[in-house]
Amino acid sequence: MEANMQIGWGLIGASTIAAEHMIGAIRAQHGHEVVAVASSSAARANDYAAKHGIAGAYDAVDKLLADPAVQVVYISTTNELHRDQVIAAAASGKHVLCEKPLALNLEDARHMVRACADAGVVMATNHHLRNAATHRKIRELVQGGSIGRPLFARVFHAVYLPPHLQGWRIDKPAAGGGVILDISVHDADTLRFILGAEPVEAVGMSQSASLAREGLEDGVMAVLRFDNGLVAQLHDAFTVPFAGTGIEIHGDQGSVIGRNVMTQRPVGDVLLRDAHGERAVPVEHESLYARGVAGFCAALRGEGQPAATGLDGVRSLATALAIVEACRTGSRVRVAPLQA
Ligand code: NDP
Repeated sequence: MEANMQIGWGLIGASTIAAEHMIGAIRAQHGHEVVAVASSSAARANDYAAKHGIAGAYDAVDKLLADPAVQVVYISTTNELHRDQVIAAAASGKHVLCEKPLALNLEDARHMVRACADAGVVMATNHHLRNAATHRKIRELVQGGSIGRPLFARVFHAVYLPPHLQGWRIDKPAAGGGVILDISVHDADTLRFILGAEPVEAVGMSQSASLAREGLEDGVMAVLRFDNGLVAQLHDAFTVPFAGTGIEIHGDQGSVIGRNVMTQRPVGDVLLRDAHGERAVPVEHESLYARGVAGFCAALRGEGQPAATGLDGVRSLATALAIVEACRTGSRVRVAPLQA
């Protein structure tokens, strides 16, 4: 795509995440505009378009894909719909930024990646945490050797699901609900990003304490082993308002600690602790979503890869599915090996 061309985005899904973060992140890019939205309901499409100043409103995805003003789609429907929507978008020659989890099983996720590759369109997964200044700094420290050999990681991502999101996540297994596909999938991606290593096996125990129904879980503690030998502990929940979030990577020469960093907001602190003591490491915060979209837009211009590719979405899903299976069976589960 030409650097100075106007790029039109179509939203597939009249979603909360698009309203709260992504429309603004797209509009923050020079030359990019949200030109259409598709919902399964004509009334919701029209209301959403009016509320967010979007020119086109469609009651079906194929109508949006037929709109010549749309060159790129952002897919943020519920998770069971991502597969067919990505494949249809690729077949229409549209570039795709898709929400996580990419799909409900690995075969579908791999199919989506292949469909985009075959169509020659850019595909990305919206793993926002890679774009946080905090996580990028933690990665730099870990991969730069500041903590020696990384041995352990601890992820604290147990939060309270806000009332306006207490819908399909807690009562629709068929839509890919549950905290593991919602939150653990982000932990998996963040650890892969920071460590530059691949999860290879998982154990876990989940909980359905208060919000989740229909066999879904609203809390989990899991342990992952990575291919570099590192062992990581994850704690994810929809049910605890006051736990606070964070990530810690512990090495044989030091520890790097991110506080209040498993979040959508550009906040949080990074600390480095080693033989010289403990100090705060400065970071320059910026919008995670705007940075993610900027990386995607650069990839459209042929400048590098998106922050999280389609394949990264396959890998985070593989890990989340291994945790689901480990919790279900009470056994140690191998994470499906790396392949597109
Ligand atoms: P929402 O529940 O807000 O939206 C999902 C779908 O629900 C919409 O596409 C819409 O369908 C339907 N919907 C919305 N409002 C109503 C309503 N009032 N009545 C009936 N249906 C409605 O989901 P989220 O925005 O929270 O999540 C969407 C996707 O984004 C998921 O894949 C999720 O995992 C992901 N996500 C990613 C985040 C990230 O940081 N990367 C953060 C949050 C979510 P329709 O389009 O047909 O109108």
